[in-house]
Amino acid sequence: MRLIMELRGDGISDRRVLAAIERVRREEFVPDLFRKDAYDNRALPIGNGQTISQPSVVAFMTQALKLDTRMRVLEIGTGSGYQAAVLAKLCARVYTVERHRDLLREAQQIFEQQRIGNVTTRFGDGMKGWPEQAPFDRILVTAAADGVVPAALFEQLRPDGILVAPVGNAFGTQHIFRYSFDADGELIEERLWPVRFVPLVVGKS
Ligand code: SAH
Repeated sequence: MRLIMELRGDGISDRRVLAAIERVRREEFVPDLFRKDAYDNRALPIGNGQTISQPSVVAFMTQALKLDTRMRVLEIGTGSGYQAAVLAKLCARVYTVERHRDLLREAQQIFEQQRIGNVTTRFGDGMKGWPEQAPFDRILVTAAADGVVPAALFEQLRPDGILVAPVGNAFGTQHIFRYSFDADGELIEERLWPVRFVPLVVGKS
């Protein structure tokens, strides 16, 4: 409840997003050592030098995607699986790609335990997207692209789709960007929120 109040204070106004955050047990997605901190509004380590994103960032990016329940969503960077679990409450199916095999295995176990049946996972390089399942209604990148979002991801987005990603220098400022296309197919780019993310890395680990 305290977390939900904090998210409201941070400008998360979409009630469906807040309800989804309320229904996903974040404590299941963090290492045992950090369970007591699971409902603090901060990122936590999950192994392999990676982090589970801060709840306000998860909420903000989810809100920025403007999801509806019929959509198919691609997530790059499964990590703990928490963001995918939140998306799964708000859309038809989540396809999520992770380059660390052991992180992916743990996330898969949690999806099973928590009976989250509409998340499909893949081990691989998310910079290439998931061409066999394209096109997607929405794409969410949860690791920071240095400078530009990989072109392959835009190619796998529907013409009326939305892509949300943190973009910027790994050591400098990053912002959440939202990309969509206007009626003439021109790319619309919106810079939404300053953030700090682990970098998007080329290849499998
Ligand atoms: N969405 C996650 C947060 C993940 S942190 C969560 O809710 O917990 C970013 C993740 O992106 C890390 O797990 C990292 O291993 C992964 N990653 C980085 N580069 C990648 C790439 N090229 N392909 C797939 N995953 C990548």
